[in-house]
Amino acid sequence: MNCSVPNRVLLGYRMDGQQDRLCLQFLWDFITAKEPLIKSPYFPVLFSFTAYMTFCLPYIALDFLSTRLPNLRKYKIQPQSYPTLGMMVPCIIQSAYHHVVLIFPVTFFHWYWRPVNLPVVAPELPEVLLEVGICLLLFDFEYFLWHLLHHRVPWLYKTFHKVHHKHVSTFALTTQYSSVWELLSLGFFAAINPVLLRCHPLTEMIFFLVNIWLSVEDHSGYDLPWSTHRLVPFGLYGGAPHHDLHHLKFKSNYAPYFTHWDRLFGTFTELHSH
Ligand SMILES: [Zn+2]
Ligand SMILES: [Zn+2]
Repeated sequence: MNCSVPNRVLLGYRMDGQQDRLCLQFLWDFITAKEPLIKSPYFPVLFSFTAYMTFCLPYIALDFLSTRLPNLRKYKIQPQSYPTLGMMVPCIIQSAYHHVVLIFPVTFFHWYWRPVNLPVVAPELPEVLLEVGICLLLFDFEYFLWHLLHHRVPWLYKTFHKVHHKHVSTFALTTQYSSVWELLSLGFFAAINPVLLRCHPLTEMIFFLVNIWLSVEDHSGYDLPWSTHRLVPFGLYGGAPHHDLHHLKFKSNYAPYFTHWDRLFGTFTELHSH
């Protein structure tokens, strides 16, 4: 593998962790070569919107293809309903509007208050995997509590969360179709955990990407053979079927990713057939 690392970075590496760090160092060197872009106040909003639309694209293609190809239809969780272009466009417009009018001012303030610091050395792979896992578990818990509260208190539901429940049958672009308060709350939960854990900026970026991907997969409306809930053992991860059922039934499956909080609180429902 061609991992071209400056000699100063190689100094002080443990032999056993060398391979992991070398590979991430190659990635980190590639990212930090674009330092002016990474340090720009526009970067967080560009990163977030580009990642979101990129992760939505395969599912948008699948939505159009599966109306014509019956073999793909068997992977649809609610095979009777398909999004139309007329349903997708308002979601894209709302998401772009929120990124420009809402997320950009917040990230600009954050950029001003906490300037971006790019260390020379990359984190080690086991450290990245552990911290991304912890960030996901914390985010899952924080959103579970927020979500439960916004369903149990009618005023909170009507005022802030009802918008996200406009679509009973979800598709990828409904992931961020939500109120300003919901979007800000989720953004805050996602941003605060890497700060609390003092994560490396590369770990933070990987966590944001994984988090956006998993939230899009949750709303995709598809249960594919490689869906995350099939890769995690013992039913610990709910994923798309779990969250699809939440949009369908309203009164269960409040955690976005894992199933342990819903099982503990007695709010867990399983999808038996479709
Ligand atoms: Zn809900
Ligand atoms: Zn949802």
